[in-house]
Amino acid sequence: NKTTANYSPLTPLTLLQRSARVYPEKLAVIDDDMNLSYRGLYARCRQMASALSRRGIETGDTVAILCPNSHEMLEAHYSVPMSGGVLNAINIRLDAGALSFILAHGEARVLFYDTQWEEQVRAAVAELEVNPLLVAIDSKAGKSQGLADLDYEALLQEGDAEAGWQHAADEWDAISLNYTSGTTGNPKGVVYHHRGAYLAAMTNAMAFDMTAETVYLWTLPMFHCNGWAYTWAITAVGGTHVCLREVDSQEIYRRIEDYGVTHMCGAPVVMNLLIQDLGRASLTLSRPARFALGGAAPPSSVIRKAEEIGFQITHLYGLTETFGPSTLCVPQPEWQQLPLEDRAKKMSRQGVPMHGLDEVAVLDMVSGEAVPADGNVMGEICIRGNTVMKGYLKNEEATEKSFSDGWFHTGDLAVMHPDHYVEIRDRAKDVIISGGENISSLEVEEVLYRHPRVSEAAVVAMADEKWGEVPCAFINPIDDVEELTHEEIIAFCREQMAHFKAPRKVVLGELPKTATGKIRKNILRDTLS
Ligand code: ADP
Repeated sequence: NKTTANYSPLTPLTLLQRSARVYPEKLAVIDDDMNLSYRGLYARCRQMASALSRRGIETGDTVAILCPNSHEMLEAHYSVPMSGGVLNAINIRLDAGALSFILAHGEARVLFYDTQWEEQVRAAVAELEVNPLLVAIDSKAGKSQGLADLDYEALLQEGDAEAGWQHAADEWDAISLNYTSGTTGNPKGVVYHHRGAYLAAMTNAMAFDMTAETVYLWTLPMFHCNGWAYTWAITAVGGTHVCLREVDSQEIYRRIEDYGVTHMCGAPVVMNLLIQDLGRASLTLSRPARFALGGAAPPSSVIRKAEEIGFQITHLYGLTETFGPSTLCVPQPEWQQLPLEDRAKKMSRQGVPMHGLDEVAVLDMVSGEAVPADGNVMGEICIRGNTVMKGYLKNEEATEKSFSDGWFHTGDLAVMHPDHYVEIRDRAKDVIISGGENISSLEVEEVLYRHPRVSEAAVVAMADEKWGEVPCAFINPIDDVEELTHEEIIAFCREQMAHFKAPRKVVLGELPKTATGKIRKNILRDTLS
Protein backbone atom coordinates (compact mmCIF):
# COMPACT_ATOMS: atom_id res chain seq x y z
CA ASN A 1 0.00 0.00 0.00
CA LYS A 2 3.00 2.32 -0.28
CA THR A 3 2.69 5.44 -2.39
CA THR A 4 4.24 4.84 -5.82
CA ALA A 5 4.13 6.58 -9.19
CA ASN A 6 0.75 5.05 -9.90
CA TYR A 7 -0.76 4.40 -6.49
CA SER A 8 -1.50 6.40 -3.41
CA PRO A 9 -3.98 5.45 -0.70
CA LEU A 10 -7.17 7.41 -1.29
CA THR A 11 -7.91 9.98 1.39
CA PRO A 12 -10.00 13.17 1.39
CA LEU A 13 -7.12 14.96 3.17
CA THR A 14 -5.32 15.49 -0.14
CA LEU A 15 -8.37 17.45 -1.33
CA LEU A 16 -7.67 20.24 1.17
CA GLN A 17 -4.00 20.24 0.25
CA ARG A 18 -4.97 20.67 -3.40
CA SER A 19 -7.49 23.45 -2.80
CA ALA A 20 -4.95 25.31 -0.65
CA ARG A 21 -2.55 25.25 -3.62
CA VAL A 22 -5.10 26.05 -6.31
CA TYR A 23 -7.20 28.62 -4.42
CA PRO A 24 -4.93 29.93 -1.63
CA GLU A 25 -6.73 33.26 -1.18
CA LYS A 26 -10.25 32.08 -1.90
CA LEU A 27 -12.78 32.19 0.93
CA ALA A 28 -13.03 28.65 2.28
CA VAL A 29 -15.08 29.27 5.43
CA ILE A 30 -17.49 31.95 6.61
CA ASP A 31 -18.26 31.69 10.32
CA ASP A 32 -19.64 34.03 12.97
CA ASP A 33 -16.27 34.76 14.56
CA MET A 34 -13.78 33.94 11.82
CA ASN A 35 -13.49 33.73 8.03
CA LEU A 36 -10.74 31.58 6.55
CA SER A 37 -9.08 31.40 3.14
CA TYR A 38 -8.02 28.00 1.85
CA ARG A 39 -4.43 28.84 2.80
CA GLY A 40 -5.59 29.75 6.32
CA LEU A 41 -7.77 26.69 6.73
CA TYR A 42 -4.99 24.34 5.63
CA ALA A 43 -2.48 26.03 7.95
CA ARG A 44 -4.79 25.76 10.98
CA CYS A 45 -5.53 22.11 10.23
CA ARG A 46 -1.84 21.23 9.93
CA GLN A 47 -1.04 23.16 13.08
CA MET A 48 -3.75 21.37 15.07
CA ALA A 49 -2.65 17.99 13.63
CA SER A 50 0.86 18.71 14.84
CA ALA A 51 -0.46 19.74 18.28
CA LEU A 52 -2.47 16.53 18.56
CA SER A 53 0.59 14.46 17.60
CA ARG A 54 2.65 16.28 20.25
CA ARG A 55 -0.06 15.38 22.76
CA GLY A 56 0.45 11.72 21.84
CA ILE A 57 -2.34 11.04 19.34
CA GLU A 58 -1.35 8.11 17.13
CA THR A 59 -2.89 6.21 14.25
CA GLY A 60 -6.26 4.82 15.27
CA ASP A 61 -6.76 6.97 18.40
CA THR A 62 -10.22 8.49 18.78
CA VAL A 63 -10.61 12.26 19.03
CA ALA A 64 -14.19 13.26 19.81
CA ILE A 65 -15.89 16.59 19.18
CA LEU A 66 -19.14 18.03 20.49
CA CYS A 67 -19.71 21.20 18.56
CA PRO A 68 -22.24 22.90 16.27
CA ASN A 69 -21.41 23.66 12.62
CA SER A 70 -18.43 25.98 12.98
CA HIS A 71 -14.93 26.47 11.61
CA GLU A 72 -13.52 24.39 14.48
CA MET A 73 -15.84 21.51 13.58
CA LEU A 74 -14.78 21.69 9.94
CA GLU A 75 -11.09 21.93 10.87
CA ALA A 76 -11.42 18.77 12.98
CA HIS A 77 -12.46 16.85 9.85
CA TYR A 78 -8.92 17.42 8.58
CA SER A 79 -6.70 18.00 11.60
CA VAL A 80 -7.71 14.84 13.43
CA PRO A 81 -7.10 12.39 10.55
CA MET A 82 -3.96 14.37 9.59
CA SER A 83 -2.57 13.29 12.96
CA GLY A 84 -3.60 9.68 12.26
CA GLY A 85 -6.55 10.02 14.64
CA VAL A 86 -10.15 8.99 14.09
CA LEU A 87 -12.75 11.75 14.35
CA ASN A 88 -15.83 11.00 16.41
CA ALA A 89 -18.27 13.88 15.89
CA ILE A 90 -20.99 13.56 18.48
CA ASN A 91 -24.61 14.56 18.23
CA ILE A 92 -24.98 17.81 20.20
CA ARG A 93 -28.44 16.96 21.49
CA LEU A 94 -27.50 13.83 23.42
CA ASP A 95 -27.90 13.72 27.18
CA ALA A 96 -24.96 13.11 29.53
CA GLY A 97 -25.67 9.36 29.76
CA ALA A 98 -25.51 8.80 26.00
CA LEU A 99 -22.48 11.08 25.74
CA SER A 100 -20.72 9.10 28.42
CA PHE A 101 -21.56 5.81 26.67
CA ILE A 102 -20.08 7.06 23.38
CA LEU A 103 -16.91 8.48 24.95
CA ALA A 104 -16.31 5.20 26.79
CA HIS A 105 -17.21 2.91 23.88
CA GLY A 106 -15.14 4.92 21.38
CA GLU A 107 -12.26 5.24 23.90
CA ALA A 108 -11.87 8.95 23.14
CA ARG A 109 -8.40 10.28 24.01
CA VAL A 110 -9.37 13.91 23.42
CA LEU A 111 -12.73 15.69 23.55
CA PHE A 112 -13.18 19.07 21.91
CA TYR A 113 -16.37 20.61 23.23
CA ASP A 114 -18.30 23.83 22.83
CA THR A 115 -18.61 25.46 26.26
CA GLN A 116 -22.40 25.74 25.94
CA TRP A 117 -22.47 21.99 26.74
CA GLU A 118 -19.99 22.15 29.61
CA GLU A 119 -22.50 20.82 32.17
CA GLN A 120 -23.35 17.76 30.04
CA VAL A 121 -19.64 17.13 29.51
CA ARG A 122 -18.95 17.49 33.24
CA ALA A 123 -21.64 14.92 34.04
CA ALA A 124 -20.55 12.59 31.23
CA VAL A 125 -16.85 12.51 32.12
CA ALA A 126 -17.66 11.98 35.81
CA GLU A 127 -18.82 8.49 34.77
CA LEU A 128 -15.64 7.62 32.85
CA GLU A 129 -12.76 5.53 34.12
CA VAL A 130 -10.24 7.26 31.86
CA ASN A 131 -10.73 10.95 31.15
CA PRO A 132 -10.01 12.31 27.69
CA LEU A 133 -8.01 15.52 27.37
CA LEU A 134 -10.75 18.17 27.57
CA VAL A 135 -10.39 21.01 25.10
CA ALA A 136 -12.90 23.87 25.33
CA ILE A 137 -14.15 25.71 22.28
CA ASP A 138 -15.27 29.15 23.49
CA SER A 139 -18.79 29.89 22.42
CA LYS A 140 -21.62 32.24 23.21
CA ALA A 141 -21.51 30.64 26.68
CA GLY A 142 -18.02 32.09 27.18
CA LYS A 143 -14.97 30.32 28.55
CA SER A 144 -14.80 26.99 30.35
CA GLN A 145 -15.72 27.24 34.03
CA GLY A 146 -12.84 25.18 35.33
CA LEU A 147 -13.54 21.89 33.54
CA ALA A 148 -11.33 22.07 30.45
CA ASP A 149 -7.64 21.21 30.49
CA LEU A 150 -7.06 23.98 27.98
CA ASP A 151 -8.87 25.81 25.24
CA TYR A 152 -8.83 25.18 21.49
CA GLU A 153 -6.69 28.14 20.50
CA ALA A 154 -4.15 27.33 23.23
CA LEU A 155 -3.86 23.74 21.99
CA LEU A 156 -3.48 25.05 18.43
CA GLN A 157 -0.54 27.20 19.57
CA GLU A 158 1.28 24.06 20.73
CA GLY A 159 1.46 22.89 17.11
CA ASP A 160 3.62 23.82 14.15
CA ALA A 161 1.76 24.90 11.00
CA GLU A 162 4.81 24.00 8.89
CA ALA A 163 4.95 20.44 10.17
CA GLY A 164 4.05 17.79 7.61
CA TRP A 165 0.98 15.68 8.15
CA GLN A 166 0.49 11.99 8.09
CA HIS A 167 -0.89 10.55 4.85
CA ALA A 168 -2.93 7.44 5.74
CA ALA A 169 -0.64 4.44 5.27
CA ASP A 170 -3.59 2.32 4.26
CA GLU A 171 -6.72 3.65 2.59
CA TRP A 172 -8.77 1.21 4.67
CA ASP A 173 -7.62 2.89 7.87
CA ALA A 174 -10.39 4.44 9.90
CA ILE A 175 -10.97 8.15 9.34
CA SER A 176 -14.07 8.66 11.44
CA LEU A 177 -16.51 7.08 13.83
CA ASN A 178 -20.20 7.99 13.73
CA TYR A 179 -22.72 6.66 16.19
CA THR A 180 -26.12 5.90 14.65
CA SER A 181 -28.78 8.27 15.87
CA GLY A 182 -30.46 5.48 17.78
CA THR A 183 -33.97 5.58 16.36
CA THR A 184 -33.56 1.79 16.59
CA GLY A 185 -32.12 0.60 19.92
CA ASN A 186 -28.57 1.26 21.19
CA PRO A 187 -26.26 3.48 19.16
CA LYS A 188 -23.71 1.56 17.10
CA GLY A 189 -20.33 3.03 16.17
CA VAL A 190 -20.07 3.11 12.38
CA VAL A 191 -16.44 3.19 11.21
CA TYR A 192 -15.60 5.06 7.97
CA HIS A 193 -12.41 4.44 5.99
CA HIS A 194 -10.28 7.04 4.16
CA ARG A 195 -11.05 5.37 0.83
CA GLY A 196 -14.83 5.58 1.25
CA ALA A 197 -14.63 9.14 2.54
CA TYR A 198 -12.63 10.20 -0.54
CA LEU A 199 -15.05 8.48 -2.91
CA ALA A 200 -18.12 9.80 -1.07
CA ALA A 201 -16.71 13.35 -1.28
CA MET A 202 -16.09 13.07 -5.02
CA THR A 203 -19.36 11.40 -5.90
CA ASN A 204 -21.49 13.64 -3.66
CA ALA A 205 -19.97 16.71 -5.28
CA MET A 206 -20.77 15.22 -8.69
CA ALA A 207 -24.30 14.21 -7.76
CA PHE A 208 -25.10 17.72 -6.55
CA ASP A 209 -23.37 19.56 -9.46
CA MET A 210 -20.81 21.34 -7.30
CA THR A 211 -18.02 23.55 -8.62
CA ALA A 212 -15.60 26.17 -7.29
CA GLU A 213 -18.55 28.60 -7.52
CA THR A 214 -20.50 26.59 -4.95
CA VAL A 215 -21.47 28.45 -1.79
CA TYR A 216 -22.71 25.83 0.64
CA LEU A 217 -24.79 26.66 3.69
CA TRP A 218 -24.44 24.20 6.58
CA THR A 219 -28.10 23.56 7.40
CA LEU A 220 -27.19 19.88 7.91
CA PRO A 221 -25.29 19.05 11.10
CA MET A 222 -21.67 18.14 10.39
CA PHE A 223 -21.93 15.54 13.14
CA HIS A 224 -24.36 13.57 11.02
CA CYS A 225 -22.35 11.20 8.77
CA ASN A 226 -19.64 13.90 8.66
CA GLY A 227 -22.24 16.13 7.02
CA TRP A 228 -22.97 13.45 4.39
CA ALA A 229 -19.31 13.81 3.38
CA TYR A 230 -19.91 17.43 2.29
CA THR A 231 -17.28 18.50 4.84
CA TRP A 232 -14.83 16.96 2.36
CA ALA A 233 -16.82 17.48 -0.87
CA ILE A 234 -17.08 21.30 -0.71
CA THR A 235 -13.36 21.49 0.01
CA ALA A 236 -12.67 19.15 -2.93
CA VAL A 237 -14.26 21.55 -5.41
CA GLY A 238 -12.86 24.64 -3.71
CA GLY A 239 -16.30 25.97 -2.79
CA THR A 240 -17.16 28.12 0.24
CA HIS A 241 -18.49 26.65 3.49
CA VAL A 242 -20.99 28.97 5.20
CA CYS A 243 -21.35 27.80 8.81
CA LEU A 244 -24.67 27.85 10.63
CA ARG A 245 -24.74 27.05 14.32
CA GLU A 246 -28.49 26.79 14.81
CA VAL A 247 -31.33 26.04 12.43
CA ASP A 248 -33.33 29.26 12.32
CA SER A 249 -35.44 30.13 9.27
CA GLN A 250 -34.79 33.89 9.32
CA GLU A 251 -31.05 33.34 9.70
CA ILE A 252 -31.02 30.75 6.91
CA TYR A 253 -32.89 33.11 4.63
CA ARG A 254 -30.56 36.00 5.50
CA ARG A 255 -27.44 33.93 4.79
CA ILE A 256 -28.81 32.58 1.52
CA GLU A 257 -29.45 36.13 0.32
CA ASP A 258 -26.33 37.79 1.80
CA TYR A 259 -23.76 35.19 0.75
CA GLY A 260 -25.37 34.03 -2.49
CA VAL A 261 -25.79 30.48 -1.22
CA THR A 262 -26.12 27.98 -4.06
CA HIS A 263 -26.43 24.65 -2.23
CA MET A 264 -27.59 23.22 1.09
CA CYS A 265 -28.84 19.94 2.54
CA GLY A 266 -31.18 18.84 5.25
CA ALA A 267 -33.94 16.57 6.43
CA PRO A 268 -37.54 17.16 5.32
CA VAL A 269 -38.34 18.68 8.73
CA VAL A 270 -35.86 21.49 8.12
CA MET A 271 -37.51 22.17 4.78
CA ASN A 272 -40.90 22.01 6.42
CA LEU A 273 -39.85 24.65 8.91
CA LEU A 274 -38.58 26.90 6.10
CA ILE A 275 -41.79 26.43 4.13
CA GLN A 276 -43.87 27.53 7.09
CA ASP A 277 -41.75 30.38 8.37
CA LEU A 278 -40.88 31.85 4.97
CA GLY A 279 -44.46 31.28 3.81
CA ARG A 280 -45.83 33.19 6.82
CA ALA A 281 -43.50 36.10 6.05
CA SER A 282 -44.26 35.86 2.29
CA LEU A 283 -40.55 35.47 1.51
CA THR A 284 -39.22 33.82 -1.63
CA LEU A 285 -35.61 33.45 -2.76
CA SER A 286 -34.27 36.15 -5.06
CA ARG A 287 -32.39 33.46 -7.01
CA PRO A 288 -32.93 29.71 -6.93
CA ALA A 289 -30.87 27.65 -4.48
CA ARG A 290 -30.42 23.90 -4.57
CA PHE A 291 -31.51 21.88 -1.57
CA ALA A 292 -30.73 18.18 -1.17
CA LEU A 293 -33.41 16.59 0.95
CA GLY A 294 -32.68 13.32 2.69
CA GLY A 295 -32.64 11.41 5.93
CA ALA A 296 -36.36 10.69 5.86
CA ALA A 297 -38.95 10.36 3.13
CA PRO A 298 -40.06 13.79 1.91
CA PRO A 299 -43.81 13.92 1.29
CA SER A 300 -44.43 15.15 -2.25
CA SER A 301 -46.30 18.18 -0.84
CA VAL A 302 -43.04 19.32 0.84
CA ILE A 303 -41.17 19.09 -2.47
CA ARG A 304 -43.90 21.02 -4.23
CA LYS A 305 -44.04 23.84 -1.67
CA ALA A 306 -40.24 24.08 -1.50
CA GLU A 307 -40.06 24.62 -5.25
CA GLU A 308 -42.65 27.38 -4.96
CA ILE A 309 -40.31 29.29 -2.61
CA GLY A 310 -37.39 28.94 -5.01
CA PHE A 311 -35.59 25.82 -3.79
CA GLN A 312 -34.58 23.30 -6.43
CA ILE A 313 -34.92 19.94 -4.79
CA THR A 314 -32.57 16.98 -5.09
CA HIS A 315 -33.76 13.93 -3.22
CA LEU A 316 -31.18 11.69 -1.55
CA TYR A 317 -31.52 8.53 0.51
CA GLY A 318 -28.91 6.93 2.66
CA LEU A 319 -27.78 5.69 6.02
CA THR A 320 -24.98 6.39 8.44
CA GLU A 321 -23.52 3.06 7.26
CA THR A 322 -23.25 4.32 3.65
CA PHE A 323 -21.46 7.61 4.35
CA GLY A 324 -24.84 9.30 3.98
CA PRO A 325 -26.34 9.36 0.47
CA SER A 326 -26.55 6.05 -1.36
CA THR A 327 -29.28 6.88 -3.85
CA LEU A 328 -30.23 10.03 -5.67
CA CYS A 329 -33.44 10.78 -7.53
CA VAL A 330 -31.97 11.90 -10.85
CA PRO A 331 -34.59 14.10 -12.57
CA GLN A 332 -35.30 13.00 -16.14
CA PRO A 333 -35.71 15.81 -18.71
CA GLU A 334 -39.26 14.75 -19.60
CA TRP A 335 -40.38 15.27 -15.98
CA GLN A 336 -40.05 19.00 -16.62
CA GLN A 337 -43.18 18.83 -18.77
CA LEU A 338 -45.23 17.33 -15.93
CA PRO A 339 -47.46 19.41 -13.66
CA LEU A 340 -45.61 20.24 -10.41
CA GLU A 341 -47.76 17.81 -8.42
CA ASP A 342 -46.83 14.83 -10.64
CA ARG A 343 -43.19 15.85 -10.84
CA ALA A 344 -43.05 16.09 -7.04
CA LYS A 345 -44.41 12.52 -6.84
CA LYS A 346 -41.66 11.24 -9.14
CA MET A 347 -39.07 13.13 -7.13
CA SER A 348 -40.25 11.77 -3.82
CA ARG A 349 -38.92 8.37 -4.94
CA GLN A 350 -35.48 7.56 -3.56
CA GLY A 351 -33.98 6.97 -7.01
CA VAL A 352 -30.90 5.34 -8.46
CA PRO A 353 -27.48 4.43 -6.97
CA MET A 354 -24.84 7.07 -6.28
CA HIS A 355 -21.68 6.70 -8.39
CA GLY A 356 -19.65 5.09 -5.62
CA LEU A 357 -21.92 2.07 -5.39
CA ASP A 358 -22.09 -0.97 -7.65
CA GLU A 359 -25.66 -1.78 -6.89
CA VAL A 360 -28.70 -0.80 -4.85
CA ALA A 361 -31.01 -3.77 -5.14
CA VAL A 362 -34.41 -4.62 -3.73
CA LEU A 363 -34.25 -8.25 -2.59
CA ASP A 364 -36.99 -10.58 -1.42
CA MET A 365 -36.69 -10.99 2.37
CA VAL A 366 -36.95 -14.80 2.15
CA SER A 367 -35.42 -15.93 -1.15
CA GLY A 368 -32.84 -13.12 -1.43
CA GLU A 369 -33.75 -12.80 -5.14
CA ALA A 370 -34.35 -9.39 -6.74
CA VAL A 371 -38.06 -8.50 -6.70
CA PRO A 372 -39.67 -7.79 -10.09
CA ALA A 373 -39.28 -4.16 -11.23
CA ASP A 374 -43.04 -3.57 -11.19
CA GLY A 375 -43.40 -0.81 -8.59
CA ASN A 376 -45.46 -3.18 -6.50
CA VAL A 377 -43.63 -6.08 -4.86
CA MET A 378 -41.76 -5.08 -1.71
CA GLY A 379 -38.32 -6.27 -0.66
CA GLU A 380 -35.36 -5.04 1.37
CA ILE A 381 -32.93 -2.46 -0.02
CA CYS A 382 -29.50 -4.11 -0.13
CA ILE A 383 -26.35 -2.26 -1.13
CA ARG A 384 -22.95 -3.18 -2.53
CA GLY A 385 -20.07 -0.88 -3.42
CA ASN A 386 -17.26 1.41 -2.36
CA THR A 387 -19.04 3.85 -0.09
CA VAL A 388 -20.13 1.40 2.56
CA MET A 389 -18.72 1.47 6.11
CA LYS A 390 -15.86 -0.68 7.35
CA GLY A 391 -18.08 -2.11 10.09
CA TYR A 392 -19.44 -1.40 13.57
CA LEU A 393 -16.80 -0.67 16.19
CA LYS A 394 -16.29 -3.56 18.64
CA ASN A 395 -19.48 -5.25 17.46
CA GLU A 396 -18.70 -8.20 15.21
CA GLU A 397 -22.10 -9.72 15.59
CA ALA A 398 -23.93 -6.67 14.23
CA THR A 399 -21.31 -6.21 11.50
CA GLU A 400 -21.66 -9.81 10.28
CA LYS A 401 -25.41 -9.60 10.40
CA SER A 402 -25.61 -6.42 8.36
CA PHE A 403 -23.10 -7.77 5.78
CA SER A 404 -24.63 -11.24 5.31
CA ASP A 405 -24.82 -12.82 1.82
CA GLY A 406 -22.43 -10.32 0.29
CA TRP A 407 -24.76 -7.34 0.70
CA PHE A 408 -25.16 -4.55 3.17
CA HIS A 409 -28.72 -4.94 4.48
CA THR A 410 -30.46 -1.63 5.16
CA GLY A 411 -33.67 -2.80 6.87
CA ASP A 412 -35.62 -0.49 4.54
CA LEU A 413 -38.50 -1.93 2.55
CA ALA A 414 -38.98 -0.71 -0.98
CA VAL A 415 -40.29 -1.43 -4.44
CA MET A 416 -38.36 -1.25 -7.72
CA HIS A 417 -40.12 0.72 -10.45
CA PRO A 418 -39.97 -0.29 -14.13
CA ASP A 419 -37.60 2.68 -14.74
CA HIS A 420 -35.25 1.21 -12.06
CA TYR A 421 -35.94 3.91 -9.53
CA VAL A 422 -36.25 2.61 -5.99
CA GLU A 423 -39.11 3.79 -3.80
CA ILE A 424 -39.12 3.22 -0.06
CA ARG A 425 -42.35 1.99 1.41
CA ASP A 426 -41.21 1.66 4.99
CA ARG A 427 -38.59 0.64 7.45
CA ALA A 428 -39.00 -3.06 8.19
CA LYS A 429 -39.93 -2.28 11.78
CA ASP A 430 -42.30 0.58 10.94
CA VAL A 431 -44.57 -1.31 8.58
CA ILE A 432 -48.05 -1.89 10.03
CA ILE A 433 -49.45 -5.39 9.62
CA SER A 434 -53.22 -5.21 9.82
CA GLY A 435 -55.27 -8.35 9.32
CA GLY A 436 -52.36 -9.84 7.38
CA GLU A 437 -52.10 -6.86 5.01
CA ASN A 438 -49.02 -4.66 5.02
CA ILE A 439 -49.74 -0.97 5.41
CA SER A 440 -46.90 1.38 4.56
CA SER A 441 -46.74 4.10 7.21
CA LEU A 442 -45.24 6.41 4.57
CA GLU A 443 -48.22 5.94 2.28
CA VAL A 444 -50.62 7.03 5.04
CA GLU A 445 -48.33 9.95 5.96
CA GLU A 446 -48.24 11.04 2.31
CA VAL A 447 -52.04 11.44 2.45
CA LEU A 448 -51.97 13.20 5.83
CA TYR A 449 -49.45 15.75 4.55
CA ARG A 450 -51.95 16.73 1.84
CA HIS A 451 -54.31 18.05 4.52
CA PRO A 452 -53.94 21.84 4.63
CA ARG A 453 -53.88 21.95 8.45
CA VAL A 454 -51.21 19.27 8.94
CA SER A 455 -47.69 20.47 9.57
CA GLU A 456 -46.08 17.13 10.45
CA ALA A 457 -47.40 13.61 10.60
CA ALA A 458 -46.17 10.20 11.71
CA VAL A 459 -48.07 6.95 11.52
CA VAL A 460 -47.23 3.96 13.71
CA ALA A 461 -48.76 0.59 14.53
CA MET A 462 -51.17 0.37 17.45
CA ALA A 463 -52.16 -3.02 18.89
CA ASP A 464 -55.69 -4.09 18.06
CA GLU A 465 -57.53 -7.17 19.26
CA LYS A 466 -59.25 -7.89 16.01
CA TRP A 467 -56.69 -6.84 13.38
CA GLY A 468 -53.41 -7.39 15.24
CA GLU A 469 -52.28 -3.87 14.38
CA VAL A 470 -54.00 -0.74 13.09
CA PRO A 471 -52.52 2.62 12.07
CA CYS A 472 -52.41 5.45 14.59
CA ALA A 473 -51.58 8.96 13.37
CA PHE A 474 -49.63 11.52 15.40
CA ILE A 475 -50.13 15.00 14.01
CA ASN A 476 -48.56 18.34 14.69
CA PRO A 477 -51.14 20.75 13.30
CA ILE A 478 -50.47 24.13 11.75
CA ASP A 479 -51.56 26.86 14.19
CA ASP A 480 -54.20 26.11 16.82
CA VAL A 481 -55.11 22.54 17.66
CA GLU A 482 -58.74 23.37 18.46
CA GLU A 483 -60.13 23.53 14.97
CA LEU A 484 -58.78 20.20 13.78
CA THR A 485 -60.84 17.21 14.85
CA HIS A 486 -59.93 13.54 14.86
CA GLU A 487 -63.02 12.72 12.83
CA GLU A 488 -62.06 15.20 10.16
CA ILE A 489 -58.59 13.67 9.76
CA ILE A 490 -59.89 10.12 9.60
CA ALA A 491 -62.60 11.06 7.10
CA PHE A 492 -60.01 12.91 4.99
CA CYS A 493 -57.86 9.77 4.83
CA ARG A 494 -60.77 7.45 4.08
CA GLU A 495 -61.69 9.59 1.08
CA GLN A 496 -58.24 9.13 -0.40
CA MET A 497 -57.18 5.59 0.41
CA ALA A 498 -58.41 2.08 1.19
CA HIS A 499 -60.37 2.28 4.44
CA PHE A 500 -58.25 -0.30 6.25
CA LYS A 501 -55.22 1.94 5.73
CA ALA A 502 -56.79 5.04 7.28
CA PRO A 503 -55.72 5.80 10.87
CA ARG A 504 -58.04 4.49 13.60
CA LYS A 505 -56.78 6.94 16.14
CA VAL A 506 -55.35 10.46 15.90
CA VAL A 507 -53.18 12.13 18.52
CA LEU A 508 -52.47 15.87 18.19
CA GLY A 509 -49.37 17.60 19.51
CA GLU A 510 -45.62 18.10 19.08
CA LEU A 511 -43.65 15.17 17.65
CA PRO A 512 -40.44 13.92 19.32
CA LYS A 513 -37.39 14.12 17.02
CA THR A 514 -33.77 13.09 16.77
CA ALA A 515 -31.05 15.70 16.43
CA THR A 516 -31.25 15.41 12.66
CA GLY A 517 -34.95 16.07 12.73
CA LYS A 518 -36.25 12.55 12.25
CA ILE A 519 -39.47 11.78 13.98
CA ARG A 520 -38.85 9.20 16.70
CA LYS A 521 -41.49 6.63 15.94
CA ASN A 522 -40.24 4.30 18.67
CA ILE A 523 -41.21 6.90 21.30
CA LEU A 524 -44.62 7.37 19.69
CA ARG A 525 -45.14 3.59 19.70
CA ASP A 526 -44.18 3.45 23.38
CA THR A 527 -46.87 5.98 24.26
CA LEU A 528 -49.45 3.58 22.87
CA SER A 529 -48.41 0.51 24.85
P1 ADP B 1 -30.96 5.91 12.28
O1 ADP B 1 -31.12 4.52 11.74
O2 ADP B 1 -30.43 5.92 13.64
O3 ADP B 1 -32.16 6.80 12.06
P2 ADP B 1 -29.61 7.01 9.97
O4 ADP B 1 -29.50 8.45 10.05
O5 ADP B 1 -28.49 6.24 9.42
O6 ADP B 1 -29.82 6.56 11.43
O7 ADP B 1 -30.94 6.71 9.20
C1 ADP B 1 -31.00 6.00 8.00
C2 ADP B 1 -32.43 5.70 7.69
O8 ADP B 1 -33.16 6.89 7.42
C3 ADP B 1 -32.61 4.85 6.47
O9 ADP B 1 -32.40 3.48 6.75
C4 ADP B 1 -34.04 5.17 6.07
O10 ADP B 1 -34.96 4.41 6.82
C5 ADP B 1 -34.19 6.63 6.47
N1 ADP B 1 -34.01 7.50 5.30
C6 ADP B 1 -32.93 8.23 4.98
N2 ADP B 1 -33.14 8.95 3.85
C7 ADP B 1 -34.38 8.66 3.43
C8 ADP B 1 -35.18 9.07 2.32
N3 ADP B 1 -34.74 9.93 1.42
N4 ADP B 1 -36.41 8.53 2.21
C9 ADP B 1 -36.86 7.65 3.11
N5 ADP B 1 -36.18 7.23 4.19
C10 ADP B 1 -34.95 7.73 4.35
